[in-house]
Amino acid sequence: MSARILLIEDNALNRELAADVLRAAGYEVLESASAEEGVRLAATNAPDLVLLDIRLPGMDGFEAIGRLRNDPRTAGIPVVALTAQAMKGDAEAARAAGFAGYITKPVNTRSLAADVAAHLVSEQREVRDE
Ligand code: MN
Repeated sequence: MSARILLIEDNALNRELAADVLRAAGYEVLESASAEEGVRLAATNAPDLVLLDIRLPGMDGFEAIGRLRNDPRTAGIPVVALTAQAMKGDAEAARAAGFAGYITKPVNTRSLAADVAAHLVSEQREVRDE
């Protein structure tokens, strides 16, 4: 069974590009343009991994991961931040907020699928080691 990825990104072009790349690699991809909808989708669709943009209108990525961590339905789902390369402090802040890691934007289409796979594998390893 292929892993299900929830992609929360407000920029339509970035989102479609990333979704296309992940689908081509065999992933099932759910898309959301807002944190509000994305948090709802995470609770009802049990994704294996969430890719969460930090800079979103309304609820931002930090508030969204707080909600995901506080909901028992989503607390165990690894969440990887999507951060703009220029935002140097974002990566450290993302770790502190509970993100499993981060992927810098613009997303490298040649490495995205492998980056996602690496996060899925490291998560499975952590679960097995517990
Ligand atoms: Mn954004």
